[in-house]
Amino acid sequence: MLVKGKSALVTGGARGIGKEIVETLLKNGANVYFIDLNPSEYMADYEVLAKEAGVKVVFKQANVASEEDITNVVEEIIKEAGELDILVNNAGITRDGLLFRMSGKDWHDVININLSSAFYITRIVARHMAKLRRGSIVNMSSIVGAHGNAGQVNYSASKAGLIGLTKSVAQEIASRGVRCNAIAPGFIKTAMTDKLTDDQKDGLLKQVPMGRLGLPSEIADLLLFLTSDMSQYITGQVIEINGGMAM
Ligand code: NAP
Repeated sequence: MLVKGKSALVTGGARGIGKEIVETLLKNGANVYFIDLNPSEYMADYEVLAKEAGVKVVFKQANVASEEDITNVVEEIIKEAGELDILVNNAGITRDGLLFRMSGKDWHDVININLSSAFYITRIVARHMAKLRRGSIVNMSSIVGAHGNAGQVNYSASKAGLIGLTKSVAQEIASRGVRCNAIAPGFIKTAMTDKLTDDQKDGLLKQVPMGRLGLPSEIADLLLFLTSDMSQYITGQVIEINGGMAM
């Protein structure tokens, strides 16, 4: 029960890594509000976990890239929760393609959903946390934000942007007792990586010393540490979790 008594807001919590994050926070005693484009097929499972832990799980439908919609929904969540201790900016998409062929739409969609959303949401939540003089914000970046990747100019730029945002936010709010860190996963087994061809996966695995994809639960475990009181002196950091892919 590492986050007992805390309340969390998680974006992209309907499936994938976000699903594991929602479940891990619930199991560890946090009330969880999650935002996604569509309801989660796992909602019944979430409710069972919430009941067992004596907490609540609440779904809010919104597009994180719409400044107006997301602002309204986040303000509504803060009102309902009373106090928010944890923010996880996790929602993200890929629209891969080589630079020469990438459309402006694929560029803007990825930047808006992966990066601008974190700005809209963090701007509201950080102010709230600063008043509480506590809180932990975690942004889901990626190994390609630090190292780049052919075919992912848009995605790697959005994830590099999240790293800059994380460090600047951390510097602005550290004195108010609020922390902001980023997680940079390598390749994790979710719908996002299921899209890769077998050849692409084989090529990737050759670069991973541990020889396997990561699991969403392994990302959720790190997230739990960063949002619990066990990481009180950690802020402005990008924690890489990638089976040794980049050392
Ligand atoms: P995923 O399985 O595709 O899940 C992403 C979730 O975000 C989905 O529920 C999706 O909803 C939601 N979402 C997408 N666009 C949204 C929007 N505009 N507004 C609200 N919700 C939206 O992806 P994942 O693999 O769990 O990835 C989660 C995060 O980790 C992402 O930021 C990703 O970039 C990052 N990451 C993943 C990996 C990996 O290998 N999987 C590696 C590094 C970083 P729909 O299903 O309705 O589209």
